[in-house]
Amino acid sequence: MPSTTAAPPAWMAMELAGLEDALVLKYGEGQRVRIQRGLKQVSQFWREEDGDRGDFRSFMTDNFAGTPAALDTMFARFESLLEQYDGHMHEIGRQFRTQSDLDLGPIEGYDDIFAGYDPSAHFLDDAFRNKLAFVVLLNFPLTTLEERLNDGPNWSRRQWAEARLAERFSKRIPGEVALAISEAASASERYISEYNIWMHHLVDDKGVRLFPPKMRLLSHWNLRDEIKADYAGQTGGLAKQRAIQQVMERIITQTIPQAVINNPGVDWNPWQNSVSPTPAAENDGGAKPEVQSVADREPDTRYVTLQNCYKAVRKADPYSPTAPTHIARSFDENREIPEARVKAMFEQLLSSPLVPRVAALIEKRLGRPLEPFDVWYNGFRAKSKYTEAELDQIVAKRYPTPAAYQKDIPELLRKLGFPAADADYVAANIVVDPARGSGHAMGAGFREGHAHLRTRVEKMGMNYKGFNIAVHEMGHNVEQTLSMNRMDHYLLNGVPNTAFTEALAFVFQARDLELLGLQEPDPQAEALSTLNDFWGAYEIAGVALVDMGVWHWMYDHPDATPAELREATLAIAREVWNKYYAPVFHKKDVVLLAVYSHMIDSFLYLPDYPIGHMIAFQIEEQVRKSGKVGPEFMRMVKPGSVVPDVWMKNATGQPVAPDAMLQALERALKQLGA
Ligand SMILES: [Zn+2]
Repeated sequence: MPSTTAAPPAWMAMELAGLEDALVLKYGEGQRVRIQRGLKQVSQFWREEDGDRGDFRSFMTDNFAGTPAALDTMFARFESLLEQYDGHMHEIGRQFRTQSDLDLGPIEGYDDIFAGYDPSAHFLDDAFRNKLAFVVLLNFPLTTLEERLNDGPNWSRRQWAEARLAERFSKRIPGEVALAISEAASASERYISEYNIWMHHLVDDKGVRLFPPKMRLLSHWNLRDEIKADYAGQTGGLAKQRAIQQVMERIITQTIPQAVINNPGVDWNPWQNSVSPTPAAENDGGAKPEVQSVADREPDTRYVTLQNCYKAVRKADPYSPTAPTHIARSFDENREIPEARVKAMFEQLLSSPLVPRVAALIEKRLGRPLEPFDVWYNGFRAKSKYTEAELDQIVAKRYPTPAAYQKDIPELLRKLGFPAADADYVAANIVVDPARGSGHAMGAGFREGHAHLRTRVEKMGMNYKGFNIAVHEMGHNVEQTLSMNRMDHYLLNGVPNTAFTEALAFVFQARDLELLGLQEPDPQAEALSTLNDFWGAYEIAGVALVDMGVWHWMYDHPDATPAELREATLAIAREVWNKYYAPVFHKKDVVLLAVYSHMIDSFLYLPDYPIGHMIAFQIEEQVRKSGKVGPEFMRMVKPGSVVPDVWMKNATGQPVAPDAMLQALERALKQLGA
């Protein structure tokens, strides 16, 4: 029977003392520290089913690499074989998804099964069962984020690679725990994915319907995007925005009537919170108006769902000794930026003295005082010199087929300042495929593979939107190729996390018109785009603080009721609002920051967004200063997947921070005369 607890077998403590002496006797006092560490690391993960006391003893004696030469051989073997494993698994996965990813005709039922199958899903289980994981844990150090940050800058490249090797085996989550987590995740995704509001059924106090028939908005994305779209100047925009704010607040506070969720059969006045059957003439959803117990509010299902995610993920805590809470795993392992620093960066951004200047500029542009939903203001948009149709024509002529784009890659890279030889080298590693969707980039899993650029080319040729995306994906491919094929250690391939590869891809994407030979840098457009990005970061930083606050509250109150979690969430949302938003919005106790669906189904993912904005600004500012994309890009990606702060210090001289964004903002405000 697999054990269900994280407790080691009873004989373990006694056995460890004897083994330490025996191994020191064999390999010398100089190995004592490594021996102690290895024994401790293995013992943390060894369970009854891995073997008895005798098995444990002989495993330890047989697999400790007690001389530098033996350790070198072991490290090199693991590095090269894991590259082969990762690379081939990646290739199988890529081939299995080819029919569903590429524009190659109908997708059969079995294609979906192939696409959904992950041949490497059980690697970690296997590696503990066949004991490869224990070999690594016996010989290479598990590190904490603190060690990687404090000691990492002085580590050799080999030490970094060893840390990454050991990290692969830093957790041993039992199958039933992993299953519980994935079940909670799918249940919450399902809850979120069906949370639609039928907008034609919103009525105001005069019975007026503000939205057109058949408009069905998914919370929160579509609701938020409708607020953004309503700035475009048509009549009634403001009334619509206010109505959506009201709907959002009902969702967050769970005063929303259960009957109006995903139901075109009833009309709803979200101010009075009254519900009535939809008259037959207004029926736009094909549903029979059936109103059952319209007075009932949604019974805190939102918070039940969130709490179920928390309860599931908490089950992994005992099996993750270096990061024993989900919060620690989220910050120390996934982001590798300490939570306290993340919080401080968000607070620096939110309380910047530049915020009131941006707010004043928005009020001026709107011609009215700010309202809470203006956290989603999106009016900082530059007008393009060219119409979309003109751009489509230019692009289609240049790129009638994916092959035409493929052929042009070396030239595009040279235009971005890559030296000719490097441009050719990278371009030779990129394969352009016809995408079924809008496009994506897929790096290789080993140095023998290629990066794939999936792009959409219509029968008439590539259009401008397709080109814009292709340039972004090409940025990914260039990063993927350089940070894989030119990396000194396979185990250090890549960048610290997705925010970095996205930021590098945006550097490319922002220059798409220049690549078409159409645009000189335009300071006015740049200023508007900076303001747009800043306002987005300002909004999402508050949202992220709420997400973080709620996860701490759940850990501090493991036995809370859903209603208590709801009240705590509202209190945290109000507190963040009152501290950072109320001073410029002149309204207190707004709960809107808690509307994000990610809060319910994404397990503390939201802090990635504002961090991503900061990283994007740091990288863009650095490229600006240096003038040319190519050489700077090649220099920046060299360290590979070290921790973000070490990478960023090498790239820009500073750790991850909001300063570059705030400097760009100051420049933008000056440019716009604000
Ligand atoms: Zn991307």
